[in-house]
Amino acid sequence: MNVLVINCGSSSLKFQLINSETEDVLAKGLCERIGIGGSRIVYKPTGKEKQVIESPMPNHTNAVSLVLECLTHETYGVIKSLDEIGAVGHRAVHGGEKFSKAVLITKEVRKIMEGTIELAPLHVPANLIGIDVCSQLMPETPMVAVFDTAFHQTMPQKAFLYGVPYKYYTDYQIRRYGFHGTSHSYVSKRTAEILGVPKENLKTIVCHLGNGASVCAVDGGKSVDTSMGFTPITGLVMGTRCGDIDPEIIEYVAAKEGTTAHSVMEVLNKKSGIYGLTDGIVDFRDLRAGCDRGDEACLRAMEIFVYNVATRVGAYAAAMNGVDAIAFTAGIGENAPTVRKAVCEYLGYLGVKIDDAANDAGEDDSIITTPDSKTKVLVVPTNEELMIARETVEVVKSL
Ligand code: AMP
Repeated sequence: MNVLVINCGSSSLKFQLINSETEDVLAKGLCERIGIGGSRIVYKPTGKEKQVIESPMPNHTNAVSLVLECLTHETYGVIKSLDEIGAVGHRAVHGGEKFSKAVLITKEVRKIMEGTIELAPLHVPANLIGIDVCSQLMPETPMVAVFDTAFHQTMPQKAFLYGVPYKYYTDYQIRRYGFHGTSHSYVSKRTAEILGVPKENLKTIVCHLGNGASVCAVDGGKSVDTSMGFTPITGLVMGTRCGDIDPEIIEYVAAKEGTTAHSVMEVLNKKSGIYGLTDGIVDFRDLRAGCDRGDEACLRAMEIFVYNVATRVGAYAAAMNGVDAIAFTAGIGENAPTVRKAVCEYLGYLGVKIDDAANDAGEDDSIITTPDSKTKVLVVPTNEELMIARETVEVVKSL
């Protein structure tokens, strides 16, 4: 079965068409600047020439239509008709407490998803638009939602409850949800496969280090704690997000700058993290270059980021009473050997011994510790789209 994976953001839409039997990607791409002018689609059919098409996309309906046109195009298409798409898997950012696994999108499910808008107002509306448009254009094709939060629904109360009045949880659903769940689930499973150990017997810590970054403790294949919380702003210092801070800071800065808590939150989301600590740097390649030049702000930001990751790993080793494997993934985790090495330098007490050559090579799905390292460290590229396609197939099969 061919599964179309859709990841709808507020002004972008990423997609992949995956053959679920072979797990081959038939085509993938990205629609950019939807609704803001200057929009274009970058479409990459496997084995054919990449297409970049500038085309007005005032809304997501135009974007999805264009994706479907590309996929079925006479010359650069990869399927003859939309009938060759067996199901659509939608990345859904927030499932609240209602969804602990992927589900078929029915009217009722859509309604429950609407109820999570207040938990993620920037993301859920875009997800719903993607779902509505695809349902309209492919009314007979099953639509499945795969939630970023679902994998973390196995966390125990001691990990997901905050020290706030309990009624905030019961009445307002305030708790740790965690994000990047599809990635943490995929990478922890892949780690077990690479090590040749059943996932049920493995304690793994996954470090998903990208522009957004989170660490997850996976015990026996289940998420038992993770660094992101009620929203994806918390936990580690990230590209532009502040990570964990004292909540008093918000009111204090608002008073100092004569502004509102809302505008301080904007800064904490979009102008903090590595960006805020440096002169506006977000990309780790630029941060690395700054460190190489001896730029003090860059060196400081790098030190803070590494310290954040290492101390979180330590916390999760304690949470699981040990750790067998630590997996690095996402843009930074997969591509920055210096960050991996710097994090691992804190982890000698866990018996981590880095193999420098293997770490520098950083090959996909490789072990980067020496054979006698008590805890194994790996580089495992994440593949959220494949995971969404797999989960979509599981749901469709069970119908
Ligand atoms: P992601 O959010 O997973 O797409 O990761 C994006 C981030 O990965 C970028 O902002 C970069 O900071 C980082 N990144 C990508 N490639 C490299 C690289 N070769 N070296 C260091 N960092 C990288």
